[in-house]
Amino acid sequence: MPSISENILQVRTRIEAACAAAGRPPGAVSLLAVSKTCPAEAVRAALDAGQHAFGENYVQEALDKIAALADRRAELQWHLIGPLQSNKTRPVAEAVDWVHSVDRLKIAQRLSEQRPAHLPPLNLCLQVNVSGEASKSGVAPDELPALARAVAALPRLRLRGLMAIPEPEDDPVRQRAPHARLRDLFHRLQAQGLALDTLSMGMSADLEAAVLEGATVVRIGTAIFGARARPGPAQ
Ligand SMILES: *Cc1c(COP(=O)(O)O)cnc(C)c1O
Repeated sequence: MPSISENILQVRTRIEAACAAAGRPPGAVSLLAVSKTCPAEAVRAALDAGQHAFGENYVQEALDKIAALADRRAELQWHLIGPLQSNKTRPVAEAVDWVHSVDRLKIAQRLSEQRPAHLPPLNLCLQVNVSGEASKSGVAPDELPALARAVAALPRLRLRGLMAIPEPEDDPVRQRAPHARLRDLFHRLQAQGLALDTLSMGMSADLEAAVLEGATVVRIGTAIFGARARPGPAQ
C-alpha cells in the first residue's frame, strides 16, 4: 500500500497537472488534507511529509486531534469543514484557524463573539448549496449575497470565500457544472466589493473539475489517507 507521503506527492502532481490544463500557475491551488476518522498519528505522518493544512468534519474529533498534536500546533493549520451546531461554536472559535461550513448568520455571530481577542481573526467560508433540494446544508444561492454582507461586517472574523459539496457525479464533464456555479457566485460577490480570495471546492473524485473551474483550495481525504470506515461528507 502506498504511504501517506507517496499519496500526498501523487495528489500534488494531480493538482499541478490540473493547473497546467487550466492554464493556471502551479501554485494557484492549495491542498487541504481531510483527516476525518484518521488517527492523530496519520496527521503527524502527513505533517512530516510537508503537509500543514488539515480539515476535520466532526467537532469533537477535531478538538481531540488538535489536543493530541498540541506539540506541533505552530506548524499546523486546522480547518473545520463539517456541520457546526450553535452549541459547539465556542470551542471551535477557540481552537481552529478556519471554518468552511458556515451557512447561517447566527453561527457566524457566535463565532465572532467567541473568537478570543489574542488570536488572529477566524477565517470563514460560506457553504453554498449548489445542488438544490438534494442537499440540506449550505445557504441557497439567492440568499447568499445578504448573508455574505452581514458576515463580512462582523468583527474577529475574516470572510475569505465560498465552499460547496456538490452531489457525487462520476462523469468528469458533468462534474464541472456545480463548480462553475460556485465560481460565478464568488465572482458576483467580488464584483459587489467583497474582498474574497478562497474558493473551496473539489475532493478526491473531482479535484480536476474543480481546478478547471477556479478552485483555490481542494479538500482531499481518501486519496491521501485511504478509504474511510465511516461514509463521506455529511451533507
Ligand atoms: C470528507 C470530506 C472531504 C474529502 O472527501 P474525499 O472524497 O475523501 O476526498 C472534503 N470535503 C468535505 C466537506 C468532506 O466532508
